[in-house]
Amino acid sequence: MAAAALRELFEGMKAFKGRDQCVRLFRPWLNMDRMLRSALRLCLPSFDKVELLQCIRRLVEVDKDWVPDSSGTSLYVRPVLIGNEPSLGVGNPTRALLFVILCPVGAYFPGDALSPVSLLADPSFIRAWVGGVGDYKLGGNYGPTVFVQQEALKKGCEQVLWLYGPDHQLTEVGTMNIFIFWTHEDGALELVTPPLDGVILPGVVRQSLLDLARTWGEFRVAERKITMKEFLQALEDGRVREVFGSGTACQVCPVHRILYQGKHLHIPTMENGPELILRFHKELKAIQYGAKAHEWMLPV
Ligand SMILES: *Cc1c(COP(=O)(O)O)cnc(C)c1O
Repeated sequence: MAAAALRELFEGMKAFKGRDQCVRLFRPWLNMDRMLRSALRLCLPSFDKVELLQCIRRLVEVDKDWVPDSSGTSLYVRPVLIGNEPSLGVGNPTRALLFVILCPVGAYFPGDALSPVSLLADPSFIRAWVGGVGDYKLGGNYGPTVFVQQEALKKGCEQVLWLYGPDHQLTEVGTMNIFIFWTHEDGALELVTPPLDGVILPGVVRQSLLDLARTWGEFRVAERKITMKEFLQALEDGRVREVFGSGTACQVCPVHRILYQGKHLHIPTMENGPELILRFHKELKAIQYGAKAHEWMLPV
């Protein structure tokens, strides 16, 4: 197993049990697409996405009694693919192991009480770069972040805000995508998230929030670079309404403080409802637990 550590990739998705006791996977097709992209990038064997999804469905079905059904709970599904070539060289792998771990998880926000997080924004740490592999869910992207996460904790912050480039672009929050709901410089009410330009992980929840907001059509939805300079200006002008992360674990997670260049910046997310965050939570919940039939859900 010596070379196993050289190639590892994973996925993270959830199955939800509705009041009707039916268990449904949330947009699993997007996870299968992303997993296959990761496998090709690591020169691990390709696989049949439809067949793997069938296997996962069957696995969840076998274990369906383990899917909790109280509010906010779910079954976390973690597919993994590792190269387990019994050799020390960095070569083309001839062996790989694909497995799927299931784990019941409790509500991320017990009692639906949204607790906001604080972030350390230190541009000396870089998660991903253009031409790199930050836009794939590879194990190698995550090990090195633990140290930075500990630095954040030491400085009294809960997570890391990953900046990028000389203009300190906001890219991601810990292992979540980042969103800002604000009034743009041009006066338009806007939901903005960084574009998929190679340094951003294409999150399934990220895509879902964009899809929902575009369907509502009530404000501008943009995928555009956001710099700290722009963000600081907006904070000063009082144009920032809500800042939040998105990911499978929490769905949507509010941000209330950012430590940047020695200053603690207060973000008024919670004072503003947080209206949009609560609306996303409600809408996703209705879809995921089957209250609202939706093509995003795959019953097992
Ligand atoms: C997994 C992950 C996300 C969120 O992706 P989802 O598919 O929405 O769970 C965002 N950023 C990083 C770095 C991730 O690893």
